[in-house]
Parts: sequence; structure tokens; C-alpha cells
Amino acid sequence: MDSLAALLESRIMQRRAQIAALTIGIDQMRTSRSLSTADDEHDPEGSLVSLDQARDAALLRHARSALDELSAAGQRLRDGCYGWCDGCGTSIPIDRLAVKPKARCCVPCALVEPRV
Ligand SMILES: [Zn+2]
Repeated sequence: MDSLAALLESRIMQRRAQIAALTIGIDQMRTSRSLSTADDEHDPEGSLVSLDQARDAALLRHARSALDELSAAGQRLRDGCYGWCDGCGTSIPIDRLAVKPKARCCVPCALVEPRV
């Protein structure tokens, strides 16, 4: 479990760094656009900027969601209930947790409910 705790912490740090970088990038893009007179409708590059903003916003939402899931897994670990399947109650194989430390279900249950 110590290696899983370290893995969880590592993934949490990675997500926090990703969120910080995306947030800075989005803020810089907003500032840059607010200082510019170009608009998406008449600027051929404008539509690309909007796509970049939409992509970064989606990446940020995904990163925040992943961080929430990893943080919840860390809490389960601290509470002593980490590694047990929410679906069938059996222990989740260590190999699965090593690949997906935020997993809440064993593979058979995840196949039935693919989002967990
Ligand atoms: Zn299960």
C-alpha cells in the first residue's frame, strides 16, 4: 500500500501541476485577447484562438475531475477502505490499482459500469 500511496500522491501532484499550467495559459490567452482588437468573426486566426480556448477549458475540466477522483482515492486510503470494489465488495487486484490508482471497481464491475 505504501507504493500505491506514493503513486497516488505522484498523480495528484501531476494533476495539480497540469491545472496550474492550464490556468496560467487560459489567463494569458484571455489577457492577450482583451488587449487585441481582433475578433473571431473577421480574423482568420481568431477561430483557432477560440478552438484553443475551448480545448484548454475542456482539458482543465478533465484535470480537475481527475484530481477530485485521485483525492477521493487518497481519502479512501487514509480511511482504510481503499482497494475494495464498490460494485461487488471484493478486493481490487493490485495490478489494476497500479495502473489506475483511482479505480473504485474491479475490472468485471468496471466493464458493467465503465465510468468507475
Ligand atoms: Zn467488483
